[in-house]
Amino acid sequence: MAADNKMRSDTASFSRKRWEMVEHQLIERGIRSRNVIDAFLKVPRHEFVSPDTIDSAYYDGPLPIGCEQTISQPYIVALMAELANLKSGEKVLEVGTGSGYQTAILVEMGCRVYTIEIIEELARKAREKLESLGYENITYEIGDGHAGWEEHAPFDAIIVTAAPDHIPTKLIEQLKVHGKLVIPVGELDQELLLITKTEKGVDIKNVTPVRFVSMKGGDEMSGSGKGTK
Ligand code: SAH
Repeated sequence: MAADNKMRSDTASFSRKRWEMVEHQLIERGIRSRNVIDAFLKVPRHEFVSPDTIDSAYYDGPLPIGCEQTISQPYIVALMAELANLKSGEKVLEVGTGSGYQTAILVEMGCRVYTIEIIEELARKAREKLESLGYENITYEIGDGHAGWEEHAPFDAIIVTAAPDHIPTKLIEQLKVHGKLVIPVGELDQELLLITKTEKGVDIKNVTPVRFVSMKGGDEMSGSGKGTK
């Protein structure tokens, strides 16, 4: 009984922290998309951080998730989801599953999500977590996202959460016309890019300087979603 009460009060306190995160970190910085905001109010971010940082789950920054990787800052996850301009029912490729937090946000936005992670341990943990929380409409892959995922292309949007040193051409090829690629590019000085595929080519906009973990791999011939399951 005491444990039940403890759980209820934790849930209430996390839910209050989520509202505060949405108000101060997202809305005050200009995030406006209703579907992004609604998704952020629903997804329990504290489930996706490691237990020793649970009290900081709604903190305004990235946090370690093991294997030298991080769960991204909430604002950056929201900005990327907003830039991708996704609507319910659309198909999105996520490169860098990491903790699975952004995957859950995309599912709450009504998307069909294809997600690739290169580190097997993180991929497995994220899958277990998302399944235990009941998230559906996700197809998982372990592999190098430089090559995208040909089998399920074309996508309405592709979101990349690790920084390559150049724009992987396969990702552009696997977008629908008018589809969006949201990707940090660069080594130390990275820039978040919003790339829209047009009938004639691509339109590239620099959004903001960012700092993501570096994208691993990079041999475009070796990935293509054919990694080990
Ligand atoms: N959106 C995630 C961010 C995780 S950090 C979250 O909020 O939790 C970026 C992730 O990209 C890491 O888990 C890293 O292992 C993964 N990654 C790095 N290079 C990759 C590649 N070439 N293909 C797929 N995933 C990659």
